[in-house]
Amino acid sequence: MPHPETWLKVVPGGLYCEPGGFFIDPTRPVDRAVITHGHSDHARPGHRAVLATADTLAIMQARMGHAGDTSQALAWHEPVTVNGVKVWLSPAGHVLGSAQVAMEYQGSRAVVSGDYKRVADPTCAGFEPVSCDVFVTEATFALPVFAHPPPEAEIRRLLDSVALFPDRTHVVGCYALGKCQRLIALLRQAGWDGPIWLHGALASMCEVYRARGVELGELRPATAAAKASLVGAIVLAPPGAIADRWARRLEDPVVGLASGWMRVRQRAKSRGVELPLVISDHADWNELNATLDEVGAPEVWVTHGREEALIHAAGMRGLRGRALRLVGYDDEDDSADAVATEEVSA
Ligand SMILES: [Zn+2]
Ligand SMILES: [Zn+2]
Repeated sequence: MPHPETWLKVVPGGLYCEPGGFFIDPTRPVDRAVITHGHSDHARPGHRAVLATADTLAIMQARMGHAGDTSQALAWHEPVTVNGVKVWLSPAGHVLGSAQVAMEYQGSRAVVSGDYKRVADPTCAGFEPVSCDVFVTEATFALPVFAHPPPEAEIRRLLDSVALFPDRTHVVGCYALGKCQRLIALLRQAGWDGPIWLHGALASMCEVYRARGVELGELRPATAAAKASLVGAIVLAPPGAIADRWARRLEDPVVGLASGWMRVRQRAKSRGVELPLVISDHADWNELNATLDEVGAPEVWVTHGREEALIHAAGMRGLRGRALRLVGYDDEDDSADAVATEEVSA
């Protein structure tokens, strides 16, 4: 069997399957791309042919106005053979449509996780481990300090605060693709059935989720709403909007932010966040480690993030670790998606 190293390579533009002639989440326009999910650091414009889930293609279409010159949707686990490489997609549990890319070539198998998490998310299919020879993983929160609490407990803290301060407006920062819809769904699960108010930059992705069958309940535009009508309300806004003029015109706002980074007090403080909610769409330290155990790969490649600790943890298990140091990927809370929404006029 050829080692995956001989057929899955890091080249300018990203991770390239040589015999298949395709890239996974390429950082520049290519002829053939397999896309794990719709965040802007993974799904970029300008590819000729795109292979992804139907949900990811719909998200790309909505975000960029196109999803490749040609596109092919794959159902979960539906195999397709590209120049002798068998390719299929398995749920990654990160955002709607997010997939791991499994590839098999001449008997050896590599799986690229994309971004993922292991806690249940009512807005997307849950992560399914695929056994493999090489597991290519993200490592955004790969430090023992990152232990995400149950999201339900964080939502409860938000609702407790709303009950405690009925005369204030709660505004919670969340990025537009994934976190926003997950917060809404978690609020619904917790019994909040009143309207949820949205900053204008969050509305269109909620429409995509709805069109793809994710129930979100009553949503209202916050920007045009009278200040008085938002007293006691929950307002969701892009992370870039919670600290600026947009939020200051709300009635005595309680500013929250939903992010895995809220585990770091200093981050919350520096962003003026009074109510940090530790809700992440990326695996925490324990989830990353549990996933290495479950996929059972003798070799782990780390795409981006805090790779040293995870590679060390892999070594402790007798696994070979390798840092790919791919550039161009970031996490949504800090990067492109969060910033891009700031540019959208309210
Ligand atoms: Zn992502
Ligand atoms: Zn990412």
